[in-house]
Amino acid sequence: MTSQTTRALAYFPSDGEIRLTDFPIQPLEADEILVRITRVAFTRRDRLLLENKSAIMPEGDNFIIPGHVAVGKVVEIGSMVKEFEPGDIVVPTIRRDCHRCIDARSDLCPHPDRYQDSGISGAHGFARDFMTVHGRYLIKIPPQLEDLALLLTHLSVAEKAHQEAIQIIKRYNFYCYHDSIDVVPSALITGMGSVGIMMTYLLSLYGYRITVFCRRESDDIRSKVLEPLDLEYINTSRIPMSRLEKAGYSFQQLFETTGDPEYMISVMPFMGPNAVMAIIGVPDHDSEEKIPEVDINRVFTRMVMGNQVIFGSIKAGRDAFELAVKDLTELSDLYGDSLVSLLTDTFPLAEYNRLLTLNTRDTIIPSLTLT
Ligand SMILES: [Zn+2]
Repeated sequence: MTSQTTRALAYFPSDGEIRLTDFPIQPLEADEILVRITRVAFTRRDRLLLENKSAIMPEGDNFIIPGHVAVGKVVEIGSMVKEFEPGDIVVPTIRRDCHRCIDARSDLCPHPDRYQDSGISGAHGFARDFMTVHGRYLIKIPPQLEDLALLLTHLSVAEKAHQEAIQIIKRYNFYCYHDSIDVVPSALITGMGSVGIMMTYLLSLYGYRITVFCRRESDDIRSKVLEPLDLEYINTSRIPMSRLEKAGYSFQQLFETTGDPEYMISVMPFMGPNAVMAIIGVPDHDSEEKIPEVDINRVFTRMVMGNQVIFGSIKAGRDAFELAVKDLTELSDLYGDSLVSLLTDTFPLAEYNRLLTLNTRDTIIPSLTLT
């Protein structure tokens, strides 16, 4: 490495500008790794950051480098690094921890002022050619998964929520013999963002009877990605929720990924007895959508009478990333071509403006390539 700076995309909230800038490359410490970022995704979360004038900047800077979903290649390792070598394909994790959370579970850290989220809040993201990073923030990817590696972060969010749902369900060692013997667990996934889609693929791997509620037509680009899977796809813009409720739709596990509070509330009646619902989508704080009137009596009565649990789950810890590598390997063997089609639009970093002006309805996971 001769250059001491790297090209980086930067968002300046003071004037709302997004532009390329030169950014310093931190000198490599003995336990650090120099990574060349090869591709960075652009998600709904990134879009929200670039519209947020009160985003939290990394200490000492008046801008933030966006990009929290990326893949890269190890270029150089510090003298003490054992787990990585030059040429390894890696995915960086998002959270920069407080250094006091046990088992690297910084995704559970209760002190938001003590951790940062790369490319989201308080730490620079990955839309840059090079970065120096500690090995504990990198996940090694088998070379055959390189083309799908951008899906790993979304899949890890799905893994965490699914693992938690299973653990909550296991609090009862329960079975009712009035149920049919061959009952297959039922799951509802709402929303077809990248996490919703990866959630659907993940649950197909685990053999669930899957239903998707979505407000898109069944020939929409996103719903087409689900074609290889055995599931029921319901466009709730066409079929009112009240009709589905009357038809007896009811689920044991629900994964809400829309980030739309109105939608979250409208799916609550679909929780069956002993059901758990994971809320994964983060609402947009600036959204002007009105929260609907809710029959709160009915909601709480159902929760109590049905032993129901609703929980929030966001960004995965290292365990979930590692589980995602294992499951992505299997998904790649089964559905590699469909999964690749999730990565819809690719532009060189210098053409970031083309990415920013894409119509979000015509794209799933657009990305920037860096060379
Ligand atoms: Zn902590």
